Amino acid sequence: MAAKADMEKIVSLCKRRGFIFPSSEIYGGLSSCWDYGPIGVELKRNVKEAWWRAIVLERDDVVGLDTAIMMHPRVWAASGHIDSFTDPLVECKSCHLRWRADAVEGTKCPKCGGELTEPRMFNMMFKTFMGPVEEEASIVYLRPETAQGIFVNFENVVTTSRKKLPLGIAQIGKSFRNEITPGNFIFRTREFEHMELEFFVKPGTDKDWLDYWVKERFEWYVKLGIKKENLRVRQHGKDELAHYAKDCYDIEYLFPMGWAELEGIANRGDFDLTQHSKHSGKDLSYYDAEAGQKYIPYVIEPSAGVDRSVLAFLADAYDEEEVQGEKRTVLHLHPFLAPIKVAVLPLSRNEKLVPLAKEVFKRLCSTFVTDYDDSQSIGRRYRRQDEIGTPYCVTIDFESLEDRQVTIRDRDTLAQIRVPIEHLEKVLEAKLKGEAFDASPLWATRQK
Ligand code: ATP
Repeated sequence: MAAKADMEKIVSLCKRRGFIFPSSEIYGGLSSCWDYGPIGVELKRNVKEAWWRAIVLERDDVVGLDTAIMMHPRVWAASGHIDSFTDPLVECKSCHLRWRADAVEGTKCPKCGGELTEPRMFNMMFKTFMGPVEEEASIVYLRPETAQGIFVNFENVVTTSRKKLPLGIAQIGKSFRNEITPGNFIFRTREFEHMELEFFVKPGTDKDWLDYWVKERFEWYVKLGIKKENLRVRQHGKDELAHYAKDCYDIEYLFPMGWAELEGIANRGDFDLTQHSKHSGKDLSYYDAEAGQKYIPYVIEPSAGVDRSVLAFLADAYDEEEVQGEKRTVLHLHPFLAPIKVAVLPLSRNEKLVPLAKEVFKRLCSTFVTDYDDSQSIGRRYRRQDEIGTPYCVTIDFESLEDRQVTIRDRDTLAQIRVPIEHLEKVLEAKLKGEAFDASPLWATRQK
């Protein structure tokens, strides 16, 4: 039976199995900061890899970039973040807690009932000082989005890549926002990772490209296993649009706490390149040789959060089922995202089994992210692998010593097939790429 994942269960699974830990936990944790553990780091890497492949490697009209977190402060004046990246806040006169004005009903503090101040604008960029002197002139900001690193390099990339428009520039990296109301686990944090694409197009073609990217990005989540019914697209109302946006769509996901933004796809028009042209004095227009025209390109920006995507993939994959009278928790993660692809499990720590199991592990670990586990009962080891979403377990038993065959167990159907060790890589590779587990495979026999 499918169980709707609740946040507490996900947080607890993440802690128990090494996906995500509270940051600085031995000091009591730091509000809204989280660390990815040995299993979580693999999941996060896979999410980024899937995005990079779909956006950069499998297309010929997008190139990648990796820019610095700290940028010239004038970038943020040009981009509008110094003036407009603000939220209206109210402060409690008694306990001094600050609240987002739109999140508080009435005039009393939700915590202590104290009187609230009038709303004041609060800038969400983190500030620090560059160099040894802490003075106004040495203020730098931690970037609140990776996009500006792309805009200021537009000319460098166009010149060096020798590509024509439409051209996308993609970047994955950390962003920082001093959010007033972080929370819901890794949904909203003050330090997070962005996956952003700035897709530069000829003005007039921007509407079509916006539609195109909304569809592409929606399909990306579906291809990676998110159920369609848990996704929806919502267009921003005129009053919601960010200061740079002409139009914007959110892809929303039905998170455990309800529908919320997973990714935003905005039409930024020529806002950013125009602003940087003005503020830097450098003409960032593009010469379109085919049209014989010079113009400032328009930009379509699909902007997704790595951490928010990780949460969506976890929530969507989470399930509790009953198997032979016992409850099991399982993550039905897409094999590409699964942190561990194969677990090698000798039936026991018997001295005859272990060398063969180690041999199998050695064969597999250079091709697949492979786990080796010989502790506790085989049932418990299966449960552990189910909980971290490992698609296949390979079991070595006493018969394996005789016939050099091993059993592969499928996480989702629990079906088992027996395969000669020499064909294991080929069989696993085919299964991980989506070959049906029960299809009569070339080298395998079905186990009852
Ligand atoms: P929200 O309205 O949820 O604060 P936003 O509209 O400000 O998000 P964008 O600036 O469009 O967010 O950023 C694009 C994506 O980056 C979001 O859809 C989300 O996945 C991610 N993101 C933004 N802010 C955070 C955050 N504080 N923590 C984690 N992910 C974030």
